[in-house]
Amino acid sequence: MARIAFIGLGNMGAPMAQNLINAGCHLQVFDLVEALTRPLVEAGAILCHSLKDVVTNVDVVITMLPAGEHVRAVYLGAENKEGLLAHVTSGTLLIDSSTIDPESARVVGLAAQKQGIEFVDAPVSGGVAGAAAGTLTFIVGGSDVAFEHAEKVLKHMGKNIFHAGSVGSGQMGKICNNLMLGILMSGTCEALTLGMDNGLDPKVLSNIMLQSSGRNWALELYNPCPDVMATSPASNGYQPGFMSKLMLKDLGLGIEAAAKSQSSVPMGALARNLYALHNAKGNELLDFSSLFEFYQSKS
Ligand code: NAD
Repeated sequence: MARIAFIGLGNMGAPMAQNLINAGCHLQVFDLVEALTRPLVEAGAILCHSLKDVVTNVDVVITMLPAGEHVRAVYLGAENKEGLLAHVTSGTLLIDSSTIDPESARVVGLAAQKQGIEFVDAPVSGGVAGAAAGTLTFIVGGSDVAFEHAEKVLKHMGKNIFHAGSVGSGQMGKICNNLMLGILMSGTCEALTLGMDNGLDPKVLSNIMLQSSGRNWALELYNPCPDVMATSPASNGYQPGFMSKLMLKDLGLGIEAAAKSQSSVPMGALARNLYALHNAKGNELLDFSSLFEFYQSKS
């Protein structure tokens, strides 16, 4: 079984890593917040205290970090600290599953290529529930050879694995998806609030829209109104899940990409601004479905 280094054991990384352990992989883990690695270490993972240690004696490195700046720092180094590329040996496959700007993915990919090392960007869709169930969708950018190699590992954590194109293409596919998700979540909050303000029960209204043309992922699996769906973050104090600050980041990535390709994204820009206002009120660590509270506030 593969020997894998996993870096970034947050809301997504921890359940993904757990599925690799369940599949029988030898796992080495590293996170700046060591406490996050504890359940995995109890499940059999080896705890490492540095980037150098975690990438030693492995076949595959997987990173699941917040944003492009973290990915660049971890792979390339920053502030006089070496990145992991200084320590990996040839033959190692590098997989970054964070959602970041395509340019950072290309810069890291090129640096790896110069060392003769394979790199793919492989961002995911499916949320924490999909990560725990091993049903994530992976959107992969990289060479055909690297994709085939990565697929063998990703299949332990996901159900649908797409090859979007060369390095950076996975991120572009993911950015388009999350632009749509931000718009759908905003629209779902808006429609539910309109109905409630006019006397409708949110459970009844949700059922009506689920069987009608307003049906969408946010409504079906992630209802933003508390107590409509027992399993959604809304019914658990909006604990993430997917933090509002990460949705703001992703909508920003969509707008950056649109500026480069001279595409028009008026709906995405509106959703981004809604999240910016919501986050500025101190909600950035709450789940992104907490935008519902922004709509509910009448002041
Ligand atoms: P998170 O903040 O919960 O986890 C990120 C982890 O990376 C943290 O534990 C942090 O300590 C660690 N980290 C940061 N810098 C590090 C470094 N230099 N070395 C080692 N560890 C470091 O975020 P998350 O929700 O798990 O999301 C991770 C990525 O996945 C983001 O890019 C996000 O946009 C994307 N994503 C999240 C979801 C979701 O539902 N949460 C869904 C799809 C994609």
